[in-house]
Amino acid sequence: PTDLNALADEYLKIAYHGFRAKDKDFNCQLVTESDPGLGRVEVVPQEIGRVLLNLYNNAFYAVSERQKQAGNDYHPSVRVTTKRLADKVEVQVSDNGTGIPESIKAKIFQPFFTTKPTGEGTGLGLSLSYDIVTKGHGGLLEVESREGEGTEFSISLPKHN
Ligand code: ADP
Ligand code: MG
Repeated sequence: PTDLNALADEYLKIAYHGFRAKDKDFNCQLVTESDPGLGRVEVVPQEIGRVLLNLYNNAFYAVSERQKQAGNDYHPSVRVTTKRLADKVEVQVSDNGTGIPESIKAKIFQPFFTTKPTGEGTGLGLSLSYDIVTKGHGGLLEVESREGEGTEFSISLPKHN
């Protein structure tokens, strides 16, 4: 049984420090909205941690790309929300980055699909994350996004498996 609030928070800091190690000028607001009544969930922490790292790295990349085009009034932000629902728990990672164009939404979970330049992306993060959440944990990994506004990924996990 894992404390997902603690896991989500810990990996958020790891991902942010990793991103800032590569780009000293990168600054991003981090917001965590943790449900205090989340309870413990039976997951493999290293695997869900890996999913979270993938989602956080994608989110930081998306806000840093948008910042390159945007003016000074753009404030990059990545938000992590946890929720306990009737029969599942949810972890949402949302960013106000570039968003995902409608034309590629259907492809993002495919292995090796990437829009990043060589060396910056393998295209394996989301496909691996999808398998870990669905096949590995009996959960769901869903996305909502608007191009030019931002993206939200939701991990839903059964409370008991
Ligand atoms: P990679 O990060 O190596 O490109 P992923 O499987 O993690 O591979 O993501 C696949 C593609 O999905 C990315 O190249 C990008 O086009 C898109 N994507 C994923 N997350 C986001 C996000 N938060 N904002 C915008 N685009 C995203
Ligand atoms: Mg990725």
